[in-house]
Amino acid sequence: MRRKVIAGNWKLNKTIEEAEIYINELKQNLDESESEVTVIIGAPLTHIHSLSTLCDEKISISSQDCSQHVSGAYTGEVSAQMLFSVGATFAIVGHSERRAYHNETNADIAIKIDRCLEENLQPIYCCGEQLSERENQSHFEVVKQQIEEALFHLTTQQIKSVIVAYEPVWAIGTGKTASAEQAQEMHAFIRSTINTKYGNEIAQNMSILYGGSCKPNNAEELFSKNDVDGGLIGGASLNPSDFIQIINAI
Ligand code: PEP
Repeated sequence: MRRKVIAGNWKLNKTIEEAEIYINELKQNLDESESEVTVIIGAPLTHIHSLSTLCDEKISISSQDCSQHVSGAYTGEVSAQMLFSVGATFAIVGHSERRAYHNETNADIAIKIDRCLEENLQPIYCCGEQLSERENQSHFEVVKQQIEEALFHLTTQQIKSVIVAYEPVWAIGTGKTASAEQAQEMHAFIRSTINTKYGNEIAQNMSILYGGSCKPNNAEELFSKNDVDGGLIGGASLNPSDFIQIINAI
């Protein structure tokens, strides 16, 4: 049975006071539930240490990125080792906003994934096509290339630690979600791409999350699909009651 995962991506939002109030509310709610879902919060760097000490075993903290570098003269960068040392256990890498605003390529992200794995940070690898690529029918080819170029250098042991998040760029923050059928079709395609390189057992055990305007009112339908193992949630993760509803939808 592959694990179900709901990960929030707070992006550039919340003061530390707001974040702590949120985590306390989430904790209280999860303590009352029997849910087996892995709940992750992608917090701003400045909040990771304090939130990780506040969290219990039901909530894990993720960074929203990590440096390609181990150490040295890289002003502003934060390494995987530093993130792990302050309590992060996951790292979101390859988010489309990093690709768009920081020119990250699949090759850059492949290195970040290596850095994460060296430090026991589990990568949540984001991939997904642009609207123009879906319109010209190249979306499968684009996602296949993203998977191959960022992941296919990993060993069989390493790939087992990776979570993939399929996030069609046209659905992120737009209110326009992929239909459950579109999500299922791409998730099955990603799983079969992993299968060609790593075999069926690893492909079947990989958690593949959907991201892109996932909200309390569409989460259940998206998560009902066979190959959709949870979600990476942006806007709707900012409000604890919306986020809890999404967790309960799985
Ligand atoms: C995201 O940024 O990863 C995301 C899925 O955002 P939203 O849910 O707001 O579309």
